[in-house]
Amino acid sequence: MKKSIGIYSFLAAFSGLVLLSCGDGKTPDKPKPTAPPTQTVQKEYVAPPDFNADSAFNQIKKQVSFGPRIPNTEAQKKCADWLANTLRKYTKDVIVQEAVVTAHTGEQLPMYNIMARFKPESSNRILLCAHWDTRPFADMDKSDKKARFDGADDGGSGTAVLLEIARIISETPPEAGIDIVLFDVEDYGTNEGGTDSYCLGSQYWGKNPPVAGYFAKYGILLDMVGAKGARFAKEGYSMQVAPSVVEKVWSTAARLGYGDIFTQELAPAVTDDHYFVRKYTGIPCIDIINYGKHNNENGFGPHWHTRNDNLSNIDKNILKAVGHTVLDVIYNE
Ligand SMILES: [Zn+2]
Repeated sequence: MKKSIGIYSFLAAFSGLVLLSCGDGKTPDKPKPTAPPTQTVQKEYVAPPDFNADSAFNQIKKQVSFGPRIPNTEAQKKCADWLANTLRKYTKDVIVQEAVVTAHTGEQLPMYNIMARFKPESSNRILLCAHWDTRPFADMDKSDKKARFDGADDGGSGTAVLLEIARIISETPPEAGIDIVLFDVEDYGTNEGGTDSYCLGSQYWGKNPPVAGYFAKYGILLDMVGAKGARFAKEGYSMQVAPSVVEKVWSTAARLGYGDIFTQELAPAVTDDHYFVRKYTGIPCIDIINYGKHNNENGFGPHWHTRNDNLSNIDKNILKAVGHTVLDVIYNE
């Protein structure tokens, strides 16, 4: 994904609004609604099952073992089959959405979006998503910008966390229905290609939902959630379309002791799959992404789109923080 300057201007306005409302100490004149306390049903807290970071790490290792999962390579097809078969161990409702998409270069690329559904009959649904493809070149690498790279973090980590979550919810189903979607062809874009040259898999999925009338209350996208030193600022587009979901996830993380990883920074918007999910389905979707001021060079970190995006840069504690937080949220829906 890339930074989106267009949406940043909205964020600037948004931040201004936040500051203004914080500075206004006046009590509003409107009468407050007076619901008796007996009408408030407080759900009992559900402690989620343990998130196994070793298992998630192994799922990254397995993905990396196929080679870079670049569209139109053998590794792409092999990994797609493995992802679908892995998810079929956890639910019988797995949909592989196969199509050919056109890149900004004019190339025709095979695409495999993989969707796993849990309790498909439930109308109380949460969408969890990540992209699983690898960028075709390490264009941020200092010495070899055409090199291929492992994508352990970029693509691998979010996918691995969701595979581990799928395993857990197959064993101990939460009350809510969960849909896990692994998007393909997210990272084939370039600045020259424009915003729409990214996220071709989620754009296709949003325009052609594989489940008729698909709906979820909200979505959570995981992107680059495994690197050493990762921090998750509150990303701008997430704050625009689903601030209450951001607050829910970030306050959960803080309660679980991950407040140093899920920070209070307000970061600019990023063009990522959550943007297209919202654009084409209307489902408000947030992005948990290693992005912010702590990554001094470009916001995404020194390993981003370089050959250093490999297993040696993955920290199980970060995988744990994300997996544990997301589990806590979905078990209490
Ligand atoms: Zn990327």
